[in-house]
Amino acid sequence: MISKAIEMTVMLDRLFPDRSARVLSAMSEVQRDVFVDPGWKRMAYTDRSLPIGHGQTISKPATVFRMLSALEPVFGGKLLETGSGSGYLASVASRLFSRVFCVERILDLVESSRTNLLRTGAGNVVVRYGDGSSGWVEHAPFDGILFSAGAPELPVSLVSQLREGGLAGVPVGIKSSQEFVVWKKVEGKLERISSFTCSFVPLIGKEGWNG
Ligand code: SAM
Repeated sequence: MISKAIEMTVMLDRLFPDRSARVLSAMSEVQRDVFVDPGWKRMAYTDRSLPIGHGQTISKPATVFRMLSALEPVFGGKLLETGSGSGYLASVASRLFSRVFCVERILDLVESSRTNLLRTGAGNVVVRYGDGSSGWVEHAPFDGILFSAGAPELPVSLVSQLREGGLAGVPVGIKSSQEFVVWKKVEGKLERISSFTCSFVPLIGKEGWNG
């Protein structure tokens, strides 16, 4: 299945001319089929989001590629991912960051993602069960922050949890569609630097929906 992961990165390479070679290389090392439900394994190397149980999904490979590529200037540092689901993005990120801190609000997914991460050799990732809409203050500051669930607006707690010069990517918008906005922290404030259209499951929690 590793050869399938390599084929998938060849497809991404064609889709994105301004590709990050480092993200493509990391994605080629991670077997995506490990992270999807048994009935969906044959679709694991297509560019589709797929069910992972509890009404949640593993994001499309192209979306994971764009999220991680946006953080390239801070590779090597500490990453926070809120909404780690199956653990796929975190496993790819483990090859790009020194440490990866994940928060996931569905206990079953916390447990299965820990197994998936071990199976794919991602030893520098920790997954905490709980509401990650306000980040993970005990491990702050982070060099990079990624939210894999859509928020109604930028969670304010992120500003203090991002180090100066750090990058944060968060899908912001309505429940059915969002803009994935990347901010850089400059002189204590967040400056918007790029964005793309996306559609994530909702961020449920204190600084998300129904909070
Ligand atoms: N990157 C993930 C992957 O590779 O599988 C994608 C996960 S899915 C698109 C989004 C996840 O966010 C879901 O598993 C959902 O339970 C989780 N989530 C939603 N709100 C959350 C919150 N407040 N704290 C932590 N996790 C949350």
